[in-house]
Amino acid sequence: MARGNGSRGHTTRCPICGQPTAPDTRPFCSPRCKEIDLGRWLGERYTIPAVEPPDQFSESEDDDETRH
Ligand SMILES: [Zn+2]
Repeated sequence: MARGNGSRGHTTRCPICGQPTAPDTRPFCSPRCKEIDLGRWLGERYTIPAVEPPDQFSESEDDDETRH
């Protein structure tokens, strides 16, 4: 959220922990943060359904169970 404004200095900060990034692992400071970001990315795909209105989600789920 605070990122995006990279016009302040030329030091890029790790979006994960906020530490200055290393050229090796840009835009992250370390392979670890790179993995964390990747995990977040993959995790978001699973989290998307949860962001939807819970009403619809549970309704269809309930319906499915009732049908059974
Ligand atoms: Zn980091």
